[in-house]
Amino acid sequence: MTTAGLPSPTSSAQAASPSKTKHGPERSCVACRRKRSQGELLRLSRAGGVWAVQNSHRTGRGSYLCADTPACWAEKKLRRAFGAQAASVSAQLLGQNAQSSSMK
Ligand SMILES: [Zn+2]
Repeated sequence: MTTAGLPSPTSSAQAASPSKTKHGPERSCVACRRKRSQGELLRLSRAGGVWAVQNSHRTGRGSYLCADTPACWAEKKLRRAFGAQAASVSAQLLGQNAQSSSMK
């Protein structure tokens, strides 16, 4: 007796939306377009025509990227938002991640 054709229970499902209710504005990651609270996102702003990662909280316009999702930092994904500067932004993000040892 052989049991073939069983559906493999691979976990390819998307992560369920968090049921936590947090205060504060929601922003969308420019790479994956997911809406998250500001605390979970990295903020980038453009000054003098150059995009840079902002560590301090500042007002003004900017772009947001998932803080805990290195996949969102790939140059390919950033190109849509940052154009020719995607590579430099990606390098900044990857450099920051290298300093912290919170890899998952
Ligand atoms: Zn993202």
